[in-house]
Amino acid sequence: MAPFAIRTYGDPVLRQRALEVEEIDGRLAQLAEQMIETMYEAPGVGLAAPQVGVRKRVFVFDTGDGEGARVLVNPSITESDGEWTFEEGCLSVPGLSWPIVRPRDVHLTGWDLDGNEVSIDVTEYEARVFQHEVDHLDGVLLVERLDPDQRKDAMRILRARALDLRSGDPDGLGLLLGGDGAHRPDGAAAPGQASGGPSDRRVEGAPRL
Ligand code: ZN
Repeated sequence: MAPFAIRTYGDPVLRQRALEVEEIDGRLAQLAEQMIETMYEAPGVGLAAPQVGVRKRVFVFDTGDGEGARVLVNPSITESDGEWTFEEGCLSVPGLSWPIVRPRDVHLTGWDLDGNEVSIDVTEYEARVFQHEVDHLDGVLLVERLDPDQRKDAMRILRARALDLRSGDPDGLGLLLGGDGAHRPDGAAAPGQASGGPSDRRVEGAPRL
């Protein structure tokens, strides 16, 4: 079982700015270790401390480049350039993803767990992961990066989900599919759906960050 439960949309910790890490010590290393375990369990590509309820400026990631999981402490994006559209999902907004436009290239600085300064240029996929995680540290969720039409759509889904949560249908599919609050029995996936969301907004393989 994962060491942490991942906080989801509606949890106030996701809207708060995380605080600078003052000291890179064993406690921080342990937090990072547990975050990595939680990320792999999810499974996800990146995870920021606020997503597990910890208001610290640290995130973990594994972009699948063979380097394994890495940790960035007090990261900041100091330069960004270009424009790139990419289908993005979030572990804190489960089951949904959207094509989102953000800068293509970023320069990121921060620290690793050994206290070494990190200064890297990344592009496209890796740059996207970093921007998403730094957003989490600033209390910004991907729904705030949507264009107005996408955002309206997202809010409709998330509101329906919140209503259904209260009535015992955590995926919110009752309201979405039936419009009358009809609930699926025992959480079985509706026909034609993988699970957990309307198929036109769900892209298998969109990285969950
Ligand atoms: Zn996220």
